[in-house]
Amino acid sequence: MVDDDNCLHLYVNGLDQGIAARDVPYPCYGLVDLYGQCEQVTIVTDQCGFSLFAYQDDREKADIEDVVKEKLIQIPNEPVVVRNCEYQNICSRLLAILALPEGYFSTQFNMCYCETCHKIRGDELYYKRGDPPKEYAVPCGWCRFSLRLPCKSHSLNMFDKWHSAFYGTRLEAVRKVLDCGDLHRSNEILAANNILLAQSFPCTEKSKPDDCLSRQLFLSPTIRYAGSKYFASRHKFTDPKTKKTHQAQVAFQVWVKPSSYKVGPSSIGSNEQFDPRFSNNEIEWSTKERGSTMLASLLIKVE
Ligand SMILES: [Zn+2]
Repeated sequence: MVDDDNCLHLYVNGLDQGIAARDVPYPCYGLVDLYGQCEQVTIVTDQCGFSLFAYQDDREKADIEDVVKEKLIQIPNEPVVVRNCEYQNICSRLLAILALPEGYFSTQFNMCYCETCHKIRGDELYYKRGDPPKEYAVPCGWCRFSLRLPCKSHSLNMFDKWHSAFYGTRLEAVRKVLDCGDLHRSNEILAANNILLAQSFPCTEKSKPDDCLSRQLFLSPTIRYAGSKYFASRHKFTDPKTKKTHQAQVAFQVWVKPSSYKVGPSSIGSNEQFDPRFSNNEIEWSTKERGSTMLASLLIKVE
């Protein structure tokens, strides 16, 4: 694509690889050489239905509008392809094995946060969301599969007002949580049926088992805490393509209503420093308020 400054950009799988040549004359003609196993090349222009498209992301709105390089090309009726990332491919294969109903997902905001993808996008490590603004960490090392949001998310003004947080969970609980569409409700149903809860949170001596079991949700502004082994248990996963065995973890990114949760110290009894940006004294957000969270995306990590 030739931009307004007459610079030529090369796109690979929809991702701008930067300026390839400057002072490109107008009109500009493309020449394509086919070799090897390449069977067909299609040349498209803006008039052919390509559209530049700003994805919903972790940055401020103004940034999204200003920074052209952060825009992606979307081919109508096809999911956005950021780049052909093998890590994202592995996570997608795990997601396929889980056989979750497609209707729960909205693929257009999927994003890979592996080190390479994150670096290529030039994203920050921390962003702020909501009113009042609250900081959270980008889920580096995880892959995001965005979920379809209910219509009420707009009437609640969630995108402007609510905070962003993470909820580590067990692989087996994902389907139940998605079916319920609500973390509080899914925990209550799991508890009522004596099934292991969505969160493998270890009850402390002080906490009453009932509280601990069904009513309280433990979230965190950083996935390094919410996605730690204390909340998101590890599962063995064999990649059907490579036959390699991996350890997989899952978590949800959620919207949280401001003032509905308590910010407190880590209750898992570990002195480990999880995230340099958040002290262990304010790394855990807990809430019992129903309707205070909304599922935003499913996150997968494979090691
Ligand atoms: Zn990636």
